[in-house]
Amino acid sequence: MSLQDITARISKAETAAGRPAGSVKLIAVSKVQPNERVQAVLEQGHRCFGENRVQEAVGKWPGFMEQFADIDLHLIGPLQTNKARQAIELVNSIHSVDRPKLAKTLARLAQEVGTCPDLFIQVNTGEEDQKAGILPAEADTFIAECRGLDLPIQGLMCIPPVDEEPSLHFALLAKIAEHNGLTGLSMGMSGDFEQAIALGATHVRVGSAIFGERVRPQE
Ligand SMILES: *Cc1c(COP(=O)(O)O)cnc(C)c1O
Repeated sequence: MSLQDITARISKAETAAGRPAGSVKLIAVSKVQPNERVQAVLEQGHRCFGENRVQEAVGKWPGFMEQFADIDLHLIGPLQTNKARQAIELVNSIHSVDRPKLAKTLARLAQEVGTCPDLFIQVNTGEEDQKAGILPAEADTFIAECRGLDLPIQGLMCIPPVDEEPSLHFALLAKIAEHNGLTGLSMGMSGDFEQAIALGATHVRVGSAIFGERVRPQE
C-alpha cells in the first residue's frame, strides 16, 4: 500500500457512500515510523498527520514544520493533563478528550495560550476497561459539560474493540454525534476505514497501510 492507494480507496468509498469528493480527511498516522518514511509522504504533498504521544510529536514535528508549510497535526492518543500545554502549542486537533479533568485543563490553558486546537471527544464504544474514552451512557452529559466550558468540540472519536465488528461501533458513534448535533466523526483505521466512511467518518486515521508495519511496537 502507499499514500496514493489509500487516497484512491478513500475517493472510491466516498463515491460509494454517495458523499462528496473530499469530505473525508486522511490523517496519516506516523507514530513510531522512521523519519525517512514520514519525509517521503511529506514530499508526496501530504500534510495531515497523526501522532499518539505528545513526547514523540514534540521531538519529531517542529523540525518538519520548519521544512514544510501548512502541516496539520492531530494528537490521536491519550493526553495527560501535565502534557496538555505542549499539546495545545503544537497540534491543530486533539482527538482524545475523554474526561472532565482534561476538559477543564484544556479550557484553562486555551484561555492562557489564546488558542485551542479543534477537539474530538473519545467515546469508549466497546466499554472496554483498558481503553480510554467516555462511556456511551455518559457522552451526552460530557459533551454538554465541554460546551459549557466553551471548548471547540468538532466531533467524536472511537477505537472499536479488536475482536468485534467495527461497523456496529461506527454506527453507535454516529448516532451519539447526531443526537448531540456534532458533525465530526474520527473513526476508521488501516483495516476498516472504508466501512467507517460508509457510516459517515469525516476523519480516518490510517497508519500501517500508508507507512508499512510499525518498526517497533509502541508500548
Ligand atoms: C496507531 C493508531 C491508528 C492507526 O492504526 P493503523 O492500524 O496502523 O492504521 C489509528 N488511531 C489511533 C488512535 C492509533 O493509535
